[in-house]
Amino acid sequence: MKYLEFNSKECDELLDRFVKYTKIHSTSSSENADNGICPSTSEQFEFARQLEKELVSSGFDNVELTDKCYLYGMIPASAGCENVKPFCLLAHMDTVEEVSGLNVKPQIVKNYDGKILSLKNSITLDPSKIPELKQAADENDTIITTDGTTLLGGDDKAGIAAIVTALSYLISHKEIKHGPIEVLFSPDEETGHGMDNVPLEKLKSKFAYTVDGGHIGELESECFNAFRSDITFFGVPSHTNNARKNKMVNAISVAAKFLESLPHTERPETTDGREGFYCPLKIDGNMEKASVSLFLRDFDRDNMEKRKSLVEQLASAAAASSGAKVEVRHIQQYLNMKEGLDKVPSVKEVLIKAYRECGVEPVMTPIRGGTDGSRLTEMGIPTPNIFTGAHNYHSASEWVSLRQMLKAADIIVNLSFLVTKI
Ligand SMILES: [Zn+2]
Repeated sequence: MKYLEFNSKECDELLDRFVKYTKIHSTSSSENADNGICPSTSEQFEFARQLEKELVSSGFDNVELTDKCYLYGMIPASAGCENVKPFCLLAHMDTVEEVSGLNVKPQIVKNYDGKILSLKNSITLDPSKIPELKQAADENDTIITTDGTTLLGGDDKAGIAAIVTALSYLISHKEIKHGPIEVLFSPDEETGHGMDNVPLEKLKSKFAYTVDGGHIGELESECFNAFRSDITFFGVPSHTNNARKNKMVNAISVAAKFLESLPHTERPETTDGREGFYCPLKIDGNMEKASVSLFLRDFDRDNMEKRKSLVEQLASAAAASSGAKVEVRHIQQYLNMKEGLDKVPSVKEVLIKAYRECGVEPVMTPIRGGTDGSRLTEMGIPTPNIFTGAHNYHSASEWVSLRQMLKAADIIVNLSFLVTKI
């Protein structure tokens, strides 16, 4: 059922809300996050405090901002739905650090007619080259772009705006039945540390949805299995003046030999879709000791095991051929959430139903990366991902479709009702 109409009061509020969020600087820092600092930047706390006020004034219950910058809130079940299973909606507050998120000046283009949009720094958005933008023009959409000097932050402020809009709608429309709904806005997703300090003890939900996808229709329930392999080669150093045949073993050369032996057709730059890969990430060292870090990615668990053993075999072969020693260590980063989601099929099924209720045909796209949802799924809370209407992520040419962001909010309203039926 369609609850949220384009050009309605709620649609205007969604636009205002999103634009307001984009202007709040909330860039995260990988370096700080890698060093265990959470949140990695104090700006994220600023944004969280503003959101905290908004949730309270919008009528959310139990609103609480943790000392690690996770903002929690919930809306209680409507009368008669107290026994419905609760679920949680998640979005992240930080934006990526590669492009500045300071002094964002969002440009609102209403009734977009398909003209080429020229932004600063010679950035152009041309619908003849961007099919999604052409679609926005055909639908007389409102789009929001940057001014060309910063990113927009649609990833994931569009997700937060959609969630707050949908739940505010439920709060003021008591006739729509729903169970308890929790929300969690988290820091540091872009640094890969978004779930490191997640206050699981606060969550009553046994399933959740992230609202952190892109184009309308995207429904993500599958991602890579991800491991990092750290390989260390130990050579036998000798001063080059004294180096003699069979006397010196140069760890750098052994590391280079190993890297060259990895399958050339299985790199990120030579693969696509469902193909996994080996990605050399870092190399450093000297003649005595050289370390290599690789990312291993595969959608299939058994194939991932094969990748790990191939790394071991190739590393041993490179070491043995030169008389070096080697140590290999594999570190699990995240796992494909498909496994966890397949155990509780209703979580995805009810979401598919909600998409279709809103006239949106779900497009299942496997993510060639991980999400906060994949981490949560591993922790036992199956969490697929919903689109937000944000496009050209992580760049100054980012733009957001208001129609699609509203559709994401409408899907959340429908989902809230449909969950009472499972
Ligand atoms: Zn995101």
